[in-house]
Order: sequence, then C-alpha cells, then structure tokens
Amino acid sequence: MPYKNYRNLVTGGAGFLGSHLIDRLMNDGEEVICLDNYFTGRKENLSKWIGHPMFELIRHDVTEPIRVEVDRIWHLACPASPVHYQFNPIKTAKTSFLGTYNMLGLARRVGARILLASTSEVYGDPEIHPQPESYKGCVNTIGIRSCYDEGKRIAETLCFDYQRMHSTEIRIIRIFNTYGPRMLPDDGRVVSNFIVQALRGQPLTLYGNGSQTRSFCYVDDLIEGMVRVMNGSHSGPINIGNPGEFTIKQLAELIKNKINPQLKLIEKELPEDDPMQRKPSIKLAKKELDWEPIISLEKGLEPTIEWFKKALLKENSVKR
Ligand code: NAD
Ligand code: UDP
Repeated sequence: MPYKNYRNLVTGGAGFLGSHLIDRLMNDGEEVICLDNYFTGRKENLSKWIGHPMFELIRHDVTEPIRVEVDRIWHLACPASPVHYQFNPIKTAKTSFLGTYNMLGLARRVGARILLASTSEVYGDPEIHPQPESYKGCVNTIGIRSCYDEGKRIAETLCFDYQRMHSTEIRIIRIFNTYGPRMLPDDGRVVSNFIVQALRGQPLTLYGNGSQTRSFCYVDDLIEGMVRVMNGSHSGPINIGNPGEFTIKQLAELIKNKINPQLKLIEKELPEDDPMQRKPSIKLAKKELDWEPIISLEKGLEPTIEWFKKALLKENSVKR
C-alpha cells in the first residue's frame, strides 16, 4: 500500500532492525533521516542508501536533544542484546529514559507521530503464558537486566503521559525475540551465537540446560508488523512476535543439524534473571492490524545462516 510521502526519522537506524525498517521505507518511496551513535549499528547496513536524495544520516546520541522537522519518528535507538545493554547499564538506562524523553519532546514540538520499539522484556520472567498485553509483568528492579527492562517500562510510561498531557500521537510495539541478516556476529544473542559457533565448528553453548523457551520472529515479519502499527489507529502496546515456541536446546539442535550435525552442545551457567519462558499472545495484533507472522523458524534460519556465512568470510579476509 503506497503511503503519503512522509518524512521519517529512524533512531537506531544503523542497527539490525532499524536498517531493515529503512530499507522498507526507502523502497516505499518515503523520505528517511537516520539518526545513530553507532554503538551497535554499522554504516555499512545503510551503504546502499548513502547518497540517495531521499536519505540522510546523522551521527547523534539520543540522550541529547535534537531538532528536525519530521512527520514520523520510529524510536528504536537502544542496544538490544544482553551483552551490549549490560556493557554500560547506566548508559542503557539513560538511553531508554532520556532518549525517549527527547524524542517525545521532538514529536510534541513538530507534531509528529512517534512509535516506540518496546520489548517482551517488560514482562520480565513471566508467570502467565503466553503473555498478553494486559499482563503487567514480573520484573526485577535491581538485577543485571533491569537497566533494559525497567528502561523500556519507563519509556512506555513516558509515551502514555505525553499522550494524556499533550495529545502526542504515540504507538508502542512490544517486540519479541527477532532474528535475521545483519545481527552482529558477536552480539551474544542466541540465534547469532549458535550460527556463528556452528559455522566456526565450535560447540554450541546452552546457558543452563537449554530448557528455557523463546519464540523467534523473522525480521521481515517483524518489520511488516511495525509498519502496520505505525499506520494503524491503536496506540498500543501491541505484541509483535512469532508465537511458535522452542526450547533453547531445540533451537541449538535445529541450527546444528542445518550446519554441522557432528557438533556438540555444551552447558554453561544460566545468567541471572534469565526468563524461563516467553511466547507472545498476538490476538490483539491479529484483530487490530490483521497481522500474523508467515515465516517459520526453519525457513527464516536459511537466509540468516547464508548471511552469517558471508559476514564471517568478510571478517576472515579483513583479518588476513
Ligand atoms: P541493535 O543494537 O542492532 O540496534 C540499536 C541501534 O541503536 C544501533 O544502531 C545503535 O548504535 C543505536 N543506539 C544505541 N544507543 C544509542 C544512542 N544513545 N543514541 C543513538 N543511537 C543509539 O538492536 P536491534 O535488535 O535492531 O533493536 C532495535 C530496537 O528494537 C531496540 O530499541 C530494542 O530494544 C528493540 N527490540 C529488539 C528486539 C530484537 O529481538 N531484535 C527485541 C525487543 C526489542
Ligand atoms: N542463550 C544460550 N546460549 C547462548 C546465548 C543465549 O543458551 O549462547 C540463551 C539465553 O540464556 C536465553 C536465550 O538463549 O535464555 C535467549 O537469549 P538472547 O540473549 O538471545 O535473548 P533474551 O534472553 O534477551 O531473550
């Protein structure tokens, strides 16, 4: 569906999801300003758009205010993998709070609609399964994941207070584990870790015994859901994720068998506060957006593995 020609600001646009979103918006003929501090993002994710008359790139940290005239703000800036968000947890909390505060201030000043990329982590280690949007969560306020989980919770709160106080047009999506090409090989997330370990001929590392579950959404499905949330009329929060649920051990077996069935699985210590199960209820997304994922884990892993093969080859040729 072609849109009105919006001017979009995508924060965190050089990252994994942000760069796929930018591809989608640019291919739809929209104008895009990407804002990123390159903490976990890479310019090469956007190389095909650099120099395009409808595309601009700004190096900026969202913890500082900025003024740009835009119609829509897609606020994704925030490290997403536990390894990265725990690297400097105070900065992560600042990015979530101050970053969202600054972007809401901008949305209010210029009259833009703003979408916040929130997360299934707002449910913490859930006592309800699957998790509907009405579930309020079970989150540790003082653990090693809290900078991210509580950061996103206060970001959601800020959005709703801007809506109530200033009638700012907000949209909130709660993203469940998403994977695909352009994840960083060293970002520590489970899909990238297992693929990279298998391609390097190393054992796959199960944290704990691998009985914890996650639900994995392929990036193309996620971006379609995100676009529908922004274009739709429901402020949210709306869960966007694939309800197919797998134990981490099942995921390891699946990836191992696709790459090298001889490899071993080894157990490592389970990190603190690691949620034991996670699966989205997507009833609301189906009802409000007529959205549901169409790409199975089995299918989505194929282009992801191919992409990592190329990324590792490139890394090796740079090292040589
Ligand atoms: P990512 O780490 O690849 O991308 C984040 C981007 O934000 C990077 O380009 C990074 O450089 C940029 N960034 C970080 N801090 C910044 C700051 N202070 N100022 C400006 N830019 C900054 O992660 P992703 O997987 O693409 O996640 C994007 C968003 O989606 C995040 O907000 C994340 O919390 C959310 N999310 C992602 C997932 C997932 O499975 N990928 C799940 C839940 C939520
Ligand atoms: N995990 C694992 N081995 C790894 C990386 C992660 O067993 O090499 C586990 C991790 O403990 C968690 C799950 O896989 O239970 C998903 O981890 P990820 O960091 O991808 O996402 P999140 O925990 O934020 O959902």
